[in-house]
Amino acid sequence: MRILILSDIHANLQALEASLEAAPAYDLAVNLGDVVGYGASPDEVVKASRSLGNIFVRGNHDKAASGISDARDFNPIAAAAIRWTGENLSAENLAWLKALPQGPLPVEGETGIQLVHGSPRDEDEYLMYEQDAHAILAGIQVPATFFGHTHVQGAFAGNEGPTRFISPRYKDARKIETFEFELQTDKKYLINPGSVGQPRDGDWRAAFLVFDSPSRMATFYRVPYDVKSAQQSILAAKLPERLAIRLGEGR
Ligand code: ZN
Repeated sequence: MRILILSDIHANLQALEASLEAAPAYDLAVNLGDVVGYGASPDEVVKASRSLGNIFVRGNHDKAASGISDARDFNPIAAAAIRWTGENLSAENLAWLKALPQGPLPVEGETGIQLVHGSPRDEDEYLMYEQDAHAILAGIQVPATFFGHTHVQGAFAGNEGPTRFISPRYKDARKIETFEFELQTDKKYLINPGSVGQPRDGDWRAAFLVFDSPSRMATFYRVPYDVKSAQQSILAAKLPERLAIRLGEGR
């Protein structure tokens, strides 16, 4: 099965549309959460995401925007965007966000993988460092866990020995680029497709991943999109200006 893995779209319709256009044919689309928050097109992005399939893990922004959690842990800019998002989503989409399940989520027919937003032990954990990844990999049986939340594309690989971070290498940020690696059978993995709608790894392009389970090949994607249009939507919605600026920086 070839699985399209999207995460952290954050209401950025321009980035989502460019990603779907660049994606190869796939059998199943899954979503690791934070469908909304920060961006200016929450209803449109929820609609487009729902049209791709029904496997979603909830993210912290989905919870806050739909009122499951409060925005107390958010910085003032993120909290302002959460308020705006809650006020600008249709009642139906708010109810849908509220009902999203907590990870880890299995994928039917694929015993070797699971889906989470933050980490398998805590849906809100930021998995940034090898030592944290190492502790998690030591304790899980599932060979491949797909996670989001940090907006940093890459994979932690480990087992007995040290855990290493595989960071995709690219050459030209003006183009669509891919980076692929094969999952080894003697290792376990924590794999982050990156953020579709608000990358924070210094690369402004939309990020996602395609995983082909029979060949165990994971392909990271980076896709240029109309970032100016996404920024203009944010400013027109009177969301904080910083949310527009950071899209151009990939931070
Ligand atoms: Zn996020």
